[in-house]
Amino acid sequence: MDSAPGNDLQAIQTELNRLESYRRRIYLGVLILTIVIVLLSWAFRENGDPFIAIAYPVFAVVLAGLGVALWYRATSLRRMEIILIAAVGTMILSRLAWHFHFGDPLGQHLLLLAGGHYWAVGILIVSGFITLGYRGGMVTGVATFLFSAALAAYEILGCSAAAEGACQNWVYLARIHLFLAILLALTSAGTFLRERTWGAFTRAETLQHWANTDPLCGLSNRRGADGFLAAEAALADRYQRPLTIILIDIDQFKGINDDHGHKVGDSVIRGFADILANTVREVDLAARWGGDEFLVATPGVDLRAARHAAERCRRAIERAPIAGISVTVTVGIAQYLPGKGIDDAINRADAMLYRAKAAGRNRVITEACELA
Ligand code: GH3
Ligand code: MG
Repeated sequence: MDSAPGNDLQAIQTELNRLESYRRRIYLGVLILTIVIVLLSWAFRENGDPFIAIAYPVFAVVLAGLGVALWYRATSLRRMEIILIAAVGTMILSRLAWHFHFGDPLGQHLLLLAGGHYWAVGILIVSGFITLGYRGGMVTGVATFLFSAALAAYEILGCSAAAEGACQNWVYLARIHLFLAILLALTSAGTFLRERTWGAFTRAETLQHWANTDPLCGLSNRRGADGFLAAEAALADRYQRPLTIILIDIDQFKGINDDHGHKVGDSVIRGFADILANTVREVDLAARWGGDEFLVATPGVDLRAARHAAERCRRAIERAPIAGISVTVTVGIAQYLPGKGIDDAINRADAMLYRAKAAGRNRVITEACELA
């Protein structure tokens, strides 16, 4: 079934909500893991490391608080993502600064830094892109890289000014920052290309959607209906399955426009399209065929059943005003004949519609009844 725009938007919103819930749960899992790592580091810390002894429990409490805020949806997910990256970034970079300026001489724990802590710096760069997208990732990644490079440069300049023998550290630090720069470049390029490709796909899908959709009522237009009708005609040819074409035209619609104005006329078209979209089955097609004329195609339904359904629909519309206006419709129905092509069935349904209009409107005429 081709749904009305309200239904489409509702389905998209439901899908977005579902994805947001997934993301919240993933962040929650990552937060719990990070808290475990922080607490393990704290439990197995070396004696005399005041940073881990004091700062890590504080970080664990902050992260737990963020987890609670995430769980109870205290703020929008986007804001939460920025806060999470800022909190984790502060933790990782402040520990790095500690290593450089308050820890033991750098040469003594360079291996620990290179083998352990710089991994966390790299993960922070990648996480920025995963969590915040290209722009947020660039801000996080460049800031992280510059901060880390500034710490290393300060260390190297300080040691060469003091003419210490441990200046060979610069080779390791330069190599690490080269890796970080490559990681930043690769991740930013990958994220940029992915976002561009995704954007192009989304634009193409949107264009395709609007090329096949009537902008006033959200049903398929003639172009959108063509694909469905061709596919169903091919299936009917192959499997001898019935396919019924129903053409519906609003009676005296020009009079509605003339008496109440075009805006009200538009509302009547939209209201009628909504009724149609909610009446047909999932497997049917409901399309705006042009002006005040609509086409319904019902695969697997014979003329008799189609006539009953159309008659029910006609009576319901006759009883309930649309947009405050009493409206009636006239319906012509014909069955697809295998091998004859879909245009033949549409023309015959149109002939039945014409005949029903001539017979006084507000009625359903099917080809079979005609023949009978
Ligand atoms: P009949 O009972 O024989 O079908 O008469 P009718 O007045 O419904 O049919 P006719 O074909 O003479 O008029 C259809 C009118 O529908 C003419 C056109 O101005 C109007 N129309 C077509 N598209 C739109 C639209 O999108 N919005 C509005 N408000 N009017 C439209
Ligand atoms: Mg009409």
